[in-house]
Amino acid sequence: QLLKDKVAIVTGAGSGIGAATAMAYAREGAKVIVSDINEQGAEKVIADIRAAGGEASFVKADVSKPEDCEHLVAETVKQYGKLDIACNNAGIGGEANLVVDMSVDGWHKIISVNLNSVFYCMKYQIAAMLKNGSGSIVNMSSILGQVAFPQSAGYVAAKHGVVGLTQNAAVEYATKQIRVNAVGPAFIDTPLLNNMDQSVKQQLIARHPIGRLGKAGEVAELVLWLSSGKASFVTGSYYPIDGGYLSV
Ligand code: NAD
Repeated sequence: QLLKDKVAIVTGAGSGIGAATAMAYAREGAKVIVSDINEQGAEKVIADIRAAGGEASFVKADVSKPEDCEHLVAETVKQYGKLDIACNNAGIGGEANLVVDMSVDGWHKIISVNLNSVFYCMKYQIAAMLKNGSGSIVNMSSILGQVAFPQSAGYVAAKHGVVGLTQNAAVEYATKQIRVNAVGPAFIDTPLLNNMDQSVKQQLIARHPIGRLGKAGEVAELVLWLSSGKASFVTGSYYPIDGGYLSV
């Protein structure tokens, strides 16, 4: 098992990519804190992990609130004694509008949930990892951390921000045995895309040379590898996982 005796946090773990990541971590032997604002979703993931013989428990955290992120880390250390791994994955799609029409509230909301959250989480996670002597963090960016997408200025800015924040944290703590990396999925078939109508989905599929959307489990395998000791020389990197999207 790749993560035997490790303790991990996954935010937004009640659905989609976060749920698949929590399952993959647990399968590889980690004790997993499944965190989300959606308790029902998280409890279902925990039940699945336990049914498969893994260990997991729930801590509720709204990652747009710094005090929740602090509590999440404190509760993890209280329950399992340390923190080795974190996947800062929670995120939303946010308001879809052109820049001129984008509401200021909508802007603040997406930056708060998709970018400020990663700073809040890392602030407390890295402090705990420094005490532990090592750690590995994977932040969920997107292909939109690299390129634009119309009507998504806030999302694109936040995901680009996640890449820069990841690099900065990586260089600050590289000599402390704490690695920090970002993952950039293209469009993945999760509930995040539920509001999209079928014709838009078909157009999106056409932009992936591989001819389909990605699966949450495929992203989880990359996150797992980056989180594990197998990626011991990898830090400050951004890894697209995109079925060829960025190559066209
Ligand atoms: P999802 O909607 O299936 O899951 C997101 C989870 O985050 C949900 O369980 C939700 O309750 C939780 N969440 C939302 N706001 C939160 C908050 N303030 N605090 C705590 N939890 C919160 O979405 P997903 O597709 O699995 O997305 C996960 C991450 O991957 C997001 O950061 C998203 O931006 C990113 N991503 C998704 C895609 C895609 O196409 N699905 C592509 C690239 C990147």
